[in-house]
Amino acid sequence: DSARLIDPARDSDDIDSMVRPQTLAEFVGQAQVRENLAVFVQAARAREEALDHVLLHGPPGLGKTTLAQIVSRELGVGFRATSGPILAKAGDLAAILTNLQPRDVLFIDEIHRLAPAVEEVLYPAMEDFQLDLIIGEGPAARSVRIDLPPFTLVGATTRAGLLATPLRDRFGIPLRLDLYETADLTSIVARGARVLKVELTSDGAAEIARRARGTPRVAGRLLRRVRDFAAVAGTAVIDAKAADAALARLDVDARGLDAMDRRYLRCISDHYGGGPVGVDTLAAALGEQRDVLEEVVEPYLIQQGLTQRTPRGRMLSDSGYRYLGLPVPSTPTR
Ligand code: ADP
Repeated sequence: DSARLIDPARDSDDIDSMVRPQTLAEFVGQAQVRENLAVFVQAARAREEALDHVLLHGPPGLGKTTLAQIVSRELGVGFRATSGPILAKAGDLAAILTNLQPRDVLFIDEIHRLAPAVEEVLYPAMEDFQLDLIIGEGPAARSVRIDLPPFTLVGATTRAGLLATPLRDRFGIPLRLDLYETADLTSIVARGARVLKVELTSDGAAEIARRARGTPRVAGRLLRRVRDFAAVAGTAVIDAKAADAALARLDVDARGLDAMDRRYLRCISDHYGGGPVGVDTLAAALGEQRDVLEEVVEPYLIQQGLTQRTPRGRMLSDSGYRYLGLPVPSTPTR
């Protein structure tokens, strides 16, 4: 399996059912998002109305699905989950919508990948809780309007910019998730260790957190792999040293960068004079998808200050040169 260890894409490694926080209070980090949601949920409950539609955007693995589930639980309503690519036809969405109970939460992951015909059905459903269906074909075709129960759509996307403006405008509550602080990830790792019954020191938790590129899903995955190494090595208690040894063998360096990140940085320095270079050019040179670079690789490198996104393209920063052990160019031609 060639999947990257630090790939934040969903997989069976998610310690989901066990570790997924169940309430807003248990959800660590993203303070502003949490506080806003708490207020809106409380208000909707008090009015006994469906919560306004929520759009969650941010890199994969930051807790969008988790938050959607928490919102439904805090509202005391049902939860239905689907995703943009799964809803192939308008009828697929219509079937789900007509089966919702009043005030239910419908979660649509990767909502930027909805087919246009499905999106058309979604607009009146979101705005007026109505479904316009065409029944029959040709001259016999007629349109029927069905009233839907009021519901809350929670949409998730990696980048809000990927959404058509009319869709984006129909979300009353747009919320952006950012990469997590190390301190928050440390509590997430410590909590995961308790659930998995792993003996982990606080230094050990911090070491894993520092190298999880700001992403809870990556933190969970690293924790599991570190646990495997410790088990094989017969280490009973995982401290920073044991965690470091395991992570080094997983090719995750002290800053949480893996081979792909280093190839990306090397490519800019060795082939494009440190940049600026366009993301499409980089994607072609690296044999990676542009989306993967933009959503997975770059956010962390930018957060770490190793690269910059400029109007003319991607550039290596001074720290980026230092990270690669290269002299920082002094000429301001960059
Ligand atoms: P997304 O939908 O944004 O890709 P998920 O909600 O599926 O992310 O979360 C990925 C994993 O990270 C899950 O295993 C989840 O339990 C965990 N996780 C996400 N956010 C948090 C958090 N704030 N605290 C604890 N665990 C979290």
